[in-house]
Amino acid sequence: MTEITGKCLCGGISYKISGEPLRMGQCHCKHCQRASGTGHMSLAFFKRDDVEITGSYTEYSSEADSGNHNIRAFCPTCGARVFSRNSANDQVIGITAGCADESDWFAPQFIVYNKDKPEWDQMDSSVNTFDAMPTKPAG
Ligand SMILES: [Zn+2]
Ligand SMILES: [Zn+2]
Repeated sequence: MTEITGKCLCGGISYKISGEPLRMGQCHCKHCQRASGTGHMSLAFFKRDDVEITGSYTEYSSEADSGNHNIRAFCPTCGARVFSRNSANDQVIGITAGCADESDWFAPQFIVYNKDKPEWDQMDSSVNTFDAMPTKPAG
């Protein structure tokens, strides 16, 4: 994969990623639904050092079932949810696939919190699906 670039809706926040995704997945937890305003978040996780973020953002922290905090970063101007990090591991950053300039590379390897998935949010049944969070926090 070559360099991945992306930005929020107004362009106030942009990013450049040089490495390969560590993992990619979709999360239907209620926090991701509220933060996105839709049925799930599509997230690609990268090494923190591979991601260069430009612009100022606001963060909102919420407690996951694991007791760790998921810290979602969004644009204070347009409200776009651009990336997130987890209090359990500050070496990893989750990028929302929809903010990438080109996102054909995104291919979810897992779906988590399927128990909270709304009926209207249809997913690919060939993707590994878990009722909640199987091992590590993903989003
Ligand atoms: Zn913005
Ligand atoms: Zn979630």
